Amino acid sequence: MTELRPCPFCGGRARLVIRHNEDCTWVRYLICCSLCDAKTGKYKTSDLARTVWNNRVGDGNSYYNKQPSCETSNGQEWFASGGGNF
Ligand SMILES: [Zn+2]
Repeated sequence: MTELRPCPFCGGRARLVIRHNEDCTWVRYLICCSLCDAKTGKYKTSDLARTVWNNRVGDGNSYYNKQPSCETSNGQEWFASGGGNF
């Protein structure tokens, strides 16, 4: 099983969230930060959600731009400290 990396915005612990309908014929997995609102989209498998999360950790700037709800002070700290790779 792929280990989840810490949140790219606040360093918080990432957790797997499972969404499903009442009779579980529709199930989706996403990864959420336990501290801020960072999260992936919803995917059909938990492995895919984990992979996306871990990839996003290394691609913080684009993720930040796609998630305006993540404009917290924590996110801006990450943006300032992690944006020096260009
Ligand atoms: Zn976070």
